[in-house]
Amino acid sequence: MRQIILTGDRPTGRLHIGHYVGSLRRRVELQNSGVYDKIFIMIADAQALTDNADNPEKVRQNIIEVALDYLSCGLDPEKSIMFIQSQVPELTELSFYYMNLVTVSRLQRNPTVKTEIQMRNFEASIPVGFFTYPISQASDITAFKATTVPVGDDQLPMIEQCREIVHKFNSVYGETLVMPKALIPENESCSRLPGTDGKAKMSKSLGNCIYLSDSEEEVQKKVMSMFTDPDHLKVSDPGKIEGNTVFIYLDAFCRDEHFAKYLPDYKNLDELKAHYQRGGLGDVKVKRFLNAVMQEELAPIRARRKELEKDIPAVYEILRKGSIEAERTAAQTLSEVKQAMKINYFDDMELIQEQAKRYSEG
Ligand code: ATP
Ligand code: MG
Repeated sequence: MRQIILTGDRPTGRLHIGHYVGSLRRRVELQNSGVYDKIFIMIADAQALTDNADNPEKVRQNIIEVALDYLSCGLDPEKSIMFIQSQVPELTELSFYYMNLVTVSRLQRNPTVKTEIQMRNFEASIPVGFFTYPISQASDITAFKATTVPVGDDQLPMIEQCREIVHKFNSVYGETLVMPKALIPENESCSRLPGTDGKAKMSKSLGNCIYLSDSEEEVQKKVMSMFTDPDHLKVSDPGKIEGNTVFIYLDAFCRDEHFAKYLPDYKNLDELKAHYQRGGLGDVKVKRFLNAVMQEELAPIRARRKELEKDIPAVYEILRKGSIEAERTAAQTLSEVKQAMKINYFDDMELIQEQAKRYSEG
């Protein structure tokens, strides 16, 4: 079977290091692995509008930001098809049919939808489009016959919901859709990177992010004021590493060779953690080290972005071409879906002839 990837991001802001360790870094590796026949990367503007209906300008302005972040991280238009969701209308049509296969109570039980409704303080005023976005996400995945969806772990319930829709569709209408699976980072710190404030998830909507496009000074400032162990008051105090944002970020970013380069008193992260837990290691020293490690990883991304920013029309051209190619693929799937559901009346010779016969015999 062909190996196909579909993944994407909402254009609600610039991309942050949570996206990077949770999905983006992996996508670039997968893209360059040569294992995949097709890779589709979607800027989910229609999905972003489900909770930003009154702010289309925000969505519009952020498309280019997300595209610049993609390209500066190493996504390559020669190898990956980057496109804009709203430019592929087949996706909305698929959603309309999938809606009949999902119950309201199932959507209400979706843990991601639940958390996000709380996060956004919707209470009883949940936009219907937002409530049903897991269905729209199932259309995105199945339209491209994706086998693999690389995401952070907040998206697992979405993939589960998609799998249920695929199962239901195929059992009602016959084997048509491809069953996808999620690919989440093995490293727990990467699958849900907390915000710099220590909150459970770094998220554009929570304002606790380090952005890929932040300047060297901004990154340093954010790292130095990061949440650590609130009980670690004196350097000599023993410190906690569980829930300590600085150590979670080190888990996500640092490798043994960083120690030789920036902190040669320690061989690896385990040694540094042990010293912190024993007491005698100050937050500032650990934060300076984290800053050095992150700057090393982010500097080339920032530099590539500066280059790409010089030719914005070229970036839009990449998205335009990608959207045309994505639409071609989605149209093919939609036609198979309509055939399976027997709503392809004009191509259905059997239906026309059978009815003609019935009436002529009438
Ligand atoms: P929003 O607040 O608008 O929902 P977001 O920051 O949650 O934005 P999304 O565009 O919803 O970002 O997510 C895009 C991808 O990045 C998804 O695969 C998601 O799992 C992953 N992701 C987002 N935040 C994190 C994080 N903090 N750690 C790991 N992965 C993340
Ligand atoms: Mg999100």
